[in-house]
Amino acid sequence: MGRLPRILLLNEYTPIYQRTACEELARQVSELRKDEDALDAYLVDLQDLVESIRPHAKACSKWYKKFLDRRLRSIIEKLREEEEWDADLNEMSEGDFAPLKKHTNVVLPKVLSNDEWQEIRGEIVASMAEYRDARLRRERAALIQRRLLDLRRVVCKLQLGDRGFRTPEQDFGPRFADFALMPEFRTLVEAPSDMDIKRSTFRRKCAELPALFDRFDAGREAQLARLLAERLGRPADAPSTDILKLAVAWFHCDQCRKYVRCPGVFAHQCQRPYYHRTDREDYEDAYIYDVAKASTFHAWSTTKLHPIPEEDLAALRALIAACGLDPARATAEEMDALDLRVTCDEIPVPYASKSEGKLVMNWRRAVLSLPMIQGGNPVKWVRASDADKRRALSLEAKAHQALLMKPKHQKFLQCALCDEPWWLVTESHGDAFLVADHLRRHHHISMAEIHSKGVYMYMHPDGVPETPEVWLPFL
Ligand SMILES: [Zn+2]
Ligand SMILES: [Zn+2]
Repeated sequence: MGRLPRILLLNEYTPIYQRTACEELARQVSELRKDEDALDAYLVDLQDLVESIRPHAKACSKWYKKFLDRRLRSIIEKLREEEEWDADLNEMSEGDFAPLKKHTNVVLPKVLSNDEWQEIRGEIVASMAEYRDARLRRERAALIQRRLLDLRRVVCKLQLGDRGFRTPEQDFGPRFADFALMPEFRTLVEAPSDMDIKRSTFRRKCAELPALFDRFDAGREAQLARLLAERLGRPADAPSTDILKLAVAWFHCDQCRKYVRCPGVFAHQCQRPYYHRTDREDYEDAYIYDVAKASTFHAWSTTKLHPIPEEDLAALRALIAACGLDPARATAEEMDALDLRVTCDEIPVPYASKSEGKLVMNWRRAVLSLPMIQGGNPVKWVRASDADKRRALSLEAKAHQALLMKPKHQKFLQCALCDEPWWLVTESHGDAFLVADHLRRHHHISMAEIHSKGVYMYMHPDGVPETPEVWLPFL
């Protein structure tokens, strides 16, 4: 094809060939393909023709572009006369009218006449209407994001309060994404575009917060109570939230594969997935995704939670019974008050190879260890003797300290001055040094202040470890 006359050259690399020239080439080649000499002669002539045209190709290309541009301007002028497309044309002009330029009725080497305009107007106007719809959708989405970010700032300031810093207790309550989904705030965020919704509008609404907090907490508890009642085979219509106080009221988090219960489950980070792990298209109600985008994390939900599965529930009931309480009625508070230690009758896999001794732990640690200890085989729990418990206590304290120093716990350190997920930009889950660096860079707090005051960072409840299990060597 390199031998075809380049009639026009849009740029150095994109030649345009005239259709009639292509058809002529095809016709000639097919006619001459059996006569090699004649074909060679034809191709040599053609090559000469190409060479004679080449010096003019750039000029032609320039002329053609100008020609098309004049036609585009004429069409824009016609649209401007209609007045209603001004906002769209103004926006389009920022991108050099790219959408119009590609329109089949625009890319024609013809001077636009009034008659032709009447012919093509319908199609051009239909494209403009499509463009307008897309523009309005974009503008509305941008407005919703702006309002959500305003609400986020209001909520963040509110949570800092007069103290000027956040506290770990707040992680158990509603966060910005939860606020934004409350109908009271959603109505404001989604108010008609011509309504002036400002931060002060959201601040005024915040006067209702204590009641909204109570409603939010009650809603979450009722949700969990229903899930648990169903698992325990109790009436699940409107169970009392007292069911959540039971020692068997544990939920499995499918995200991190750990057991959580009230109140830790309300702060648990897996219940608020990072918005990037989800797609807007997957939400029937796209507002849910838009809120997550403004917040970086989704609102709290039970999506990743399941009440303790049947096999672990049986093991947990056996554990409670081994401690001398009735599994159907015992509460977590009662189990905590006993402060017993338990062990297994046989050292289970994967602990078996670790050492010879007795594996001793409190009941909460025993629940957290269930998925690992069970390993498919039912475990027989035995209450540890008072002497064994005394031996375990000092070992537990040491193991607890060691656990706090592990990097996996440090990643739960939070900045107390903002709700930014600052670790996302560092691409590394944090430690005290990284949080301090964030405080210094973003909040201009000096290192001396960070170390002396101790209020600028705190451990998220997920990072507070349960008392670890310990090995008591056989005496
Ligand atoms: Zn989790
Ligand atoms: Zn911060």
